[in-house]
Amino acid sequence: MTARLLDGKIAARQVRENVRLAVDQRLAQGLRRPGLAVVLVGDDPASNIYVSKKRKACEEAGIVSKAFDLPADTSQTQLLELIDQLNQDPEIDGILVQLPLPDQIDESTITEAVGPIKDVDGFHSTNIGLLTQGTPHLRPCTSLGIMRLLEVNEIEIRGKDAVVVGRSNIVGRPIALELLLANATVTICHSFTKNLRARVGQAEILVVAIGKPEAIPGEWIAEGAVVVDVGINRTEDGKLVGDVGFAEASKRASWITPVPGGVGPMTVAILLENTLKSAQSCD
Ligand code: NDP
Repeated sequence: MTARLLDGKIAARQVRENVRLAVDQRLAQGLRRPGLAVVLVGDDPASNIYVSKKRKACEEAGIVSKAFDLPADTSQTQLLELIDQLNQDPEIDGILVQLPLPDQIDESTITEAVGPIKDVDGFHSTNIGLLTQGTPHLRPCTSLGIMRLLEVNEIEIRGKDAVVVGRSNIVGRPIALELLLANATVTICHSFTKNLRARVGQAEILVVAIGKPEAIPGEWIAEGAVVVDVGINRTEDGKLVGDVGFAEASKRASWITPVPGGVGPMTVAILLENTLKSAQSCD
């Protein structure tokens, strides 16, 4: 079997276009453009790239993106003051604080400071709680992006055995909750999981988010499985690879995400959709 590609670039383009059309409609109705505050602390090169992609995508969709670039020595109190102002700003619908933050700032304090109605990253405990209860409002971008990628490719989820490798708050846990909400039977694996190979081999839908280059060998994948590789790793020779051995996995899987061009573009597109949703719920 040769896997078909779950092409995130194509699916993301459609999401972004739909957001652009909805923004145009808002303007025609006399409503204002949605506004996203993008907060970057310090000058981490990878964060800089992610943030500039997000800002550019906002512009293209007609969303106002306001940049807040703070120095690396910004204190937690200063950042909390900014978030407080943004929470109260009627022209800001979404607040994105790019992670990771410098050591002097506690990430969970910041995540909790962003008002849940402007939490376009979907990381606030209220939004994670709603997703856990099966009544989501703003949902984490990467996991919702994965669900959309499966949906547009008409991949059946209900009743399937899904295995998630990784349990981070930003990817592993939320995607496990999303798959459960879509009626899959979900197994979550992590660094203490026994016999990972056997678990991976049982997956009809496999999502891997561990951040280790090709740590899941393609040979482990069950024939016909749907493989979603969230990992983005740079090799010594400068190439980007995922967490799954792509060459071998794509001989066995029925569908597989490329890296890059799979999950990554969906994350950015859903951020725009969340900002629009947030603006709509404030109208
Ligand atoms: P974290 O480092 O926060 O979490 C990694 C998780 O993987 C942990 O739960 C850890 O287990 C588990 N893990 C690590 N090694 C193993 C192993 N050998 N076997 C089983 N489980 C293991 O990573 P993130 O979730 O933040 O990111 C994961 C990857 O996804 C990274 O490459 C990141 O760059 C990428 N990413 C991509 C995005 C996109 O848009 N495409 C968005 C966000 C992330 P334990 O909890 O026990 O330590």
